This record gives sequence, C-alpha cells and structure tokens, in this order.
Amino acid sequence: MADWVLITGGSRGIGAATALRCAEAGWDVAINYAQDSAAAEALAGRLHARGRRVLTLQADVADEAQVAAMFRRLDEAGGHLAGLVNNAGIVAPAARLQDMDMARWRRLFDVNVLGTLLCCQQAARRMSTKHGGAGGAIVNLSSRAAEFGSAGIYVDYAATKGAVDTLTKGLARELIAEGIRVNGVRPGIIETDIHATSGFTVGAPEIAAGIPIQRLGRAEEVAEAVAWLLSDAASYTVGALLDVAGGR
Ligand code: NAP
Repeated sequence: MADWVLITGGSRGIGAATALRCAEAGWDVAINYAQDSAAAEALAGRLHARGRRVLTLQADVADEAQVAAMFRRLDEAGGHLAGLVNNAGIVAPAARLQDMDMARWRRLFDVNVLGTLLCCQQAARRMSTKHGGAGGAIVNLSSRAAEFGSAGIYVDYAATKGAVDTLTKGLARELIAEGIRVNGVRPGIIETDIHATSGFTVGAPEIAAGIPIQRLGRAEEVAEAVAWLLSDAASYTVGALLDVAGGR
C-alpha cells in the first residue's frame, strides 16, 4: 500500500493535473471537491487505471465540520497520510474595491485562507512525529497575485494569497521539527476554468504578450512543481514559495 496524498479541489484544473502526476509518482490519491462529483468520478477512473487507490471526498474546505469528516473518511480507508496539497481556491468577478461587498470578502477568505488552515491543522495532527505520526509534506497553492496585488481585478483574492504565503512560511518553521515540510507554489496565469468566474479573458493576445515567456501556463506545468515539493527530492526545501509563472 502506498502513502496517501490528499488534494483539495482535486477534481479539475491544477488539482486534477496534480492528482494524475502524483499517481504517476506512486502516491495513492484522495481527491476532494466541492460540487462537481461527475468530474471527480471521471478523474478517479483515470487514476484507478494507473493502478492507484483512489478516494473521492466531497467537502467544502471552508466548513470545519466537513473538513474534519473528510479526514476521518480518509482515516477509515486505512493507510497513512503523507501528503496534502491545499489547492482548492476561488476567485470572484473582476471588480474595484468600491464595488465589492463583505459577503464576497468573507467567502474568499473562508475558502482560500481558512480552508487552507483547517486542512493543514487536520493533516498536522496525523503527520506530526510529536503525535505519533511519520511526518509528511504539505504544499499550498498561492498565486503570483500575492505579489502584484491584482489592482482593479481582485485585490481581495490577491490578499488571500498573501495570507497563504505568510501561513506557509510560518507553518514551515513551526512544523519542520515535527517531520512536516511545508512549501508553497505561486502560479502565474494558468489555463483553467477558474477565469470564467472572474470574467478575465485570459485568451486575449495582450495577456500572453505581458508574460516574459509569451504564453499562459498549463496545469501540468504547475503539477510538476507540486509533485517535486511533495517528494523526497525536495527534502531540504522548507518554507519555499516556488513561482511557476513564465518569468512574470
Ligand atoms: P479551478 O479550475 O477553478 O478548480 C477549482 C477546484 O477547487 C475544483 O476542483 C473545485 O471543485 C474546487 N473547489 C472550489 N471551491 C471549493 C471548496 N470550497 N471546497 C472544496 N473544493 C473547492 O481552479 P484552478 O485554476 O485549478 O486553481 C487551483 C488553485 O490554484 C487555486 O487555489 C487558485 O487560486 C490557484 N491559482 C490558479 C491560477 C490560474 O491561473 N488558474 C493562478 C494562480 C493560482 P468543484 O469542481 O466541485 O467546484
């Protein structure tokens, strides 16, 4: 039996590419998703075909009880959780500050920040050598937006990713003595469905022209970085924020 990696928001986009890459690397893969069970089950079929154990786990990462229940279901499946990828994340329609509201801010922070903290907490309780665990690795999906701030588009989303960067660095230092390596990946603009929510037309030629590499990224290119940070090949990499952004 291989070790489990749990990938939140693993049913589509960067999460799904990471699930496939992790299966290739020998992990058994637990895929969390929010709503789209058909996408999760279709991906599960592809992972099974690669000979891996697979679990699909519906849960809203922003809901403490649902997150706790998700980790209990993983426990019941047997075996050992050694990897967590906090990938579930949302954006909101492009807007200026004056036109945003509290409900939007709360949801962005609940999913992107509190969801990451909740899953880190549950994973740490299982992985920590201080609690009888065998250690592990956590990778948090941030964004280059954390640095640029996304003015006029979604400064609130960018701020959630700034928080993810900070908690990644803090938890890395807190948990490494307990055998848990924590790192982050900061994608640039990657071709996934997420942009449909913001209304941001990523296909426009001026978008690619503004990226030094002159093109958008692919989910598989981000998955490669996540898989490396999860692996023993990254054994001395702790608290790193790895930009996968074509030079942007
Ligand atoms: P995506 O294609 O929109 O996929 C999002 C995934 O997250 C789906 O599996 C979705 O499940 C799940 N999800 C959404 N809300 C959830 C919740 N509350 N609880 C559990 N799962 C939830 O997104 P993506 O583009 O792959 O982005 C993945 C991560 O990379 C995000 O954290 C995002 O901020 C970050 N990122 C993306 C880009 C980019 O350009 N794409 C750039 C920088 C950073 P359902 O299908 O069930 O809704």
